[in-house]
Amino acid sequence: MRNDDIWEEPAVEQEGDLSAVAMGLVGDLTMEDVHLDQLRQAIFERVEHLDQIPALLRKLGATDWALWLADMRAHIGVCTQCHRYVRMADATTLPELVWLGDRVFCHACAQQVLAEHTFTCEACGHDFHARHPPSPFIVCPDCESPGLTLAMTSLAAQLQRARRLDLPATLTLREWLDTLEYFDWRCAYCRREEFACMDHFVPVTQGGGTTKDNCVPACVSCNSTKGGRHPNIHPSRTEGYARVAHYLAQFE
Ligand SMILES: [Zn+2]
Ligand SMILES: [Zn+2]
Ligand SMILES: [Zn+2]
Repeated sequence: MRNDDIWEEPAVEQEGDLSAVAMGLVGDLTMEDVHLDQLRQAIFERVEHLDQIPALLRKLGATDWALWLADMRAHIGVCTQCHRYVRMADATTLPELVWLGDRVFCHACAQQVLAEHTFTCEACGHDFHARHPPSPFIVCPDCESPGLTLAMTSLAAQLQRARRLDLPATLTLREWLDTLEYFDWRCAYCRREEFACMDHFVPVTQGGGTTKDNCVPACVSCNSTKGGRHPNIHPSRTEGYARVAHYLAQFE
């Protein structure tokens, strides 16, 4: 059912009922004598099925149809999900409707929608609501930041790269963030430069996977200096290498 359906002129089956309602509303007054607010209120109180409104307005002799419909439409809320029409008693408080993002729902549907669209943030662990699951990782709006975006971009790319080469690809966003936080979002080798890319301690070209025990943040310079050397075959004597090896060893 389209939201507009109600506004198409209905086939009036309850002539008698409508006449009674019309009489009860305005008695022998004409439309011109009735205050807009009064009539609107009376309609809401007495008309059970809101699809009767257009016919009722005609019954009352309303001549400015379009204006009336626009007015009524502004005071009626339609649940996006079940299409139930609910009255907005007050255009500012909307007590019978729940807004989720830019859509409006009745209370029953809102509960259902919230349950179906609740996600757990992979970064902070809190539940949040979203119309669609965020991609490539489930991250809440509160956690979004340029740093996190870089972390997610690097992780997504390296997980994909490892999978393509049939290597282990098990590093989770939370694990990657833990490692980034451990190194203060700086290069794990020089500790000076900011994190710019994900470094595989055992290079992907040497069979190293994208896993918690093989990935650390690096700057472009340290990453390219390190190159494709296997740390066990060509162990470096630098402090940075020892630090990274020590850090990663705890996860093996
Ligand atoms: Zn509903
Ligand atoms: Zn979060
Ligand atoms: Zn560095």
